Parts: sequence; C-alpha cells; structure tokens
Amino acid sequence: MLRVAEHFHKSDTGRQRRANEDSLFARSPLFVVADGMGGAQAGEVASRIAVEAYERGLPGTGGAEERLAAVAQLANQRIHDLGVQDPTRSGMGTTLTAALVDGEVVSLAHVGDSRAYRMRAGELQQLTVDHSLVGELVRRGKLTEAEAQDHPQKSVITRALGVEAHVEVDTISYSAQAGDLFLICSDGLTTMIDDDLIADVLRDSKTLSQAGQRLVDEANESGGRDNITVILFRLEELAAGESAPATPVVDDTTMVGALSPTTADVNAALRSQERVVEASAASLAAIQEPQRRGPRLPRRQNRDSQSSPRRRRKRWLVALFGGVVLVAVIGVAVWMGTRAVFFIGTNDAGFVTVYRGLPFEGPFDTKLYETYYISGVPAAGLPASRRSTLLDHQLRSRTDASDLVRKIELDQLDDK
Ligand code: MG
Repeated sequence: MLRVAEHFHKSDTGRQRRANEDSLFARSPLFVVADGMGGAQAGEVASRIAVEAYERGLPGTGGAEERLAAVAQLANQRIHDLGVQDPTRSGMGTTLTAALVDGEVVSLAHVGDSRAYRMRAGELQQLTVDHSLVGELVRRGKLTEAEAQDHPQKSVITRALGVEAHVEVDTISYSAQAGDLFLICSDGLTTMIDDDLIADVLRDSKTLSQAGQRLVDEANESGGRDNITVILFRLEELAAGESAPATPVVDDTTMVGALSPTTADVNAALRSQERVVEASAASLAAIQEPQRRGPRLPRRQNRDSQSSPRRRRKRWLVALFGGVVLVAVIGVAVWMGTRAVFFIGTNDAGFVTVYRGLPFEGPFDTKLYETYYISGVPAAGLPASRRSTLLDHQLRSRTDASDLVRKIELDQLDDK
C-alpha cells in the first residue's frame, strides 16, 4: 500500500502575463492542475471552477478513473453553462489534469495540454497525451519534439473543459512504486523548458520544494511567457498499521447541488450579470414610458385649449426624445444580435480565423465584428476549392464555426 510521503505545489504568474489563469488543488491523495483560457478573467473563473469541483470531493462509488471523470464532466457542465449565460465569458474553458493515488495505482483524468509525468529510477516519463495541435503533429510524425517546442501554434489546444456541452475526458491508471515522483504542471512550464531539463532538475535537487522552485525559476529564466503551475508528489510504502489519507467523498446528489453556486467570484460574476440585466430592463421601461403615455386621454381631452406654441414645443421634444431612445434601443438590439453570430475569415497574418459579429465595417473605421479564435492554419495552405467555400463570411452559430475550423485544422493535418 502506498501513500504520498510529501508534496510541493506552486503557481506563478510568470514574467509576461498580468494575471494568473492557472488554478491548482493539492491535498493528498488528490492533485489537480487547471489552466484556464478566455478573456476578461474568464479563464481564471473556468480553471477555478474545475479545481473547486475536485476540492468538494469525488463520488463515493465507482473506480478511481470513473470518479475522477465524473467530476470533470460536472465541471465541464458548470463552466459551459456559465459561458452560455454570460456573453463576456462565452467560449471560456480550461485544461485539466487530475491525479488520484489509490492503493498501488495512480489514476489520471486529463483534458488539454497540461501534463502529468512520473520520475522513476532517474527516468522521466510523460503520462498524458497533449490535446493540442502540435501534439497531434508530433504523434503523426510531422513534427519532432524539438520542432514542437518552438512552434508558433504550440499553445493551440484541441480539447478543453467547458468550451462545448460535452467533453471527452481521457482517463488512465499507472501502477506505482515507493519512490516514484509525480509531476503535474501547466504548459507554462513545458513550453518554456524541455523534458531533459525537467529531468535534470528533478534528479539533481536535494528536496522536493527545491526541485519545484527550480522548475518555476527555470521556466521564468527561459522567458516566463505563460503562467507556471507545478505540483510534485513522492510516494512511499505505508508502514504496517498506518492508513492512507482518505479521499474526500461526497455523494452524487450533493455534488450536483454543490456545483451550482460555487465560488464567491462566480457568484459575484452572476450577481453583476443580473445587475446589468436589471439595469437594462429598468432603463428600457423608463425610456418607453413617455411613448406609451403620450397619446393617452387626459391630455387629448384638452388638446385644443393647450395647443399653444409652448405645448407644441413640448410635444416635439417628447417625440424627439422618443426617437432618440428608439434608435438607441434598436442599436442595442443590433449590437446584442451581433454577439450571437460568427463567421470564418482570414486575419491580417493570413490565418483562418473565427470572428464574432457581422462581416461589415462601418464609418470611421468601426467594425461590427471582433476576433474570436485564431486557428493554426494559414489560409494560403487551404486548397483553392475549399478556400472560397470556407472563408465566405457566411453567418454561423458559434458551435458551427468552431466545429468547422476544428475540422479545417484536422483536415489540414491530413493534407500535409
Ligand atoms: Mg498556460
């Protein structure tokens, strides 16, 4: 029977990001790293929802992999629902790598490009498969590990928690031994330093905390371009008569409820969203009031007697105000409409890109669209026949546009 002898965890913002969108959870025997994505702090929210789902415990029944995957699915649903409710968080997501020490086995649940490694007898082995564009290229033999390390699209992931209503979660179990050292980390570590250096640091460090700190330092010294999160844990044999720490367990019904209102941040986000909706409704009601009440009886009865220049000016002002308000309401409605439609085109750098909004430009350089997702596929690399049909600026749903671009990315792999 094995137990976690010691563990280390650290999350560092790195040198180029202002915020840390990684989250972690480390409480023996469960360890989780999540690397969020999405603007306006959405990535931070997504990764935190993922780790908090684990913090609340695993289901009481089922095998280790099944229990880990069940929590991943709940977190996926929660993040996705929040993204759908709030347009500013639309499309947010997170990677997830979770490890559970269970008897003589370490089980993993994994989505995205965070990684788990095992160091045994001085040899480092990667235990997870990157769900990323360059990961696919490496597996297909189109790129070497070294080329992948420097690839401009190395941060493009092909699977994440929360982006779609359904997610495929990889699970796998490895038999473990006393002395095994496990590393779980975000891509802020592995895109900055290679596996050889990671292995050297783990081999050469005297203590676990020295090893963990050195990994973070090495990633920062190599540029620190992304948030860096590192969890290390070492296993040892359980002495006779001792018992391993229990995994926090919640029953399945509690878990569903527990995931509804989660963190203070998420609640705050929801509350602020409600405030926006309420404010819009209130101002709409307020501005529609004069239009509705204008032609009503009490004033009409006295129309003749009140048809003075002053009265006419007042009516004219009310009409003008109503017109302005109507234009504003229509403007807001159009703007909200543009948030719900997407189209595919090519960005200035020539990459196939998903845009949110309408494919038009207004006066004074205003645009009715914004960049939503830049793929790793150069438009020039598409066959001419595909180019005209795919980059036609046809309006699509977010799912359609995202699915199509994902297919383009994978077809592009086939064509290479
Ligand atoms: Mg990252």
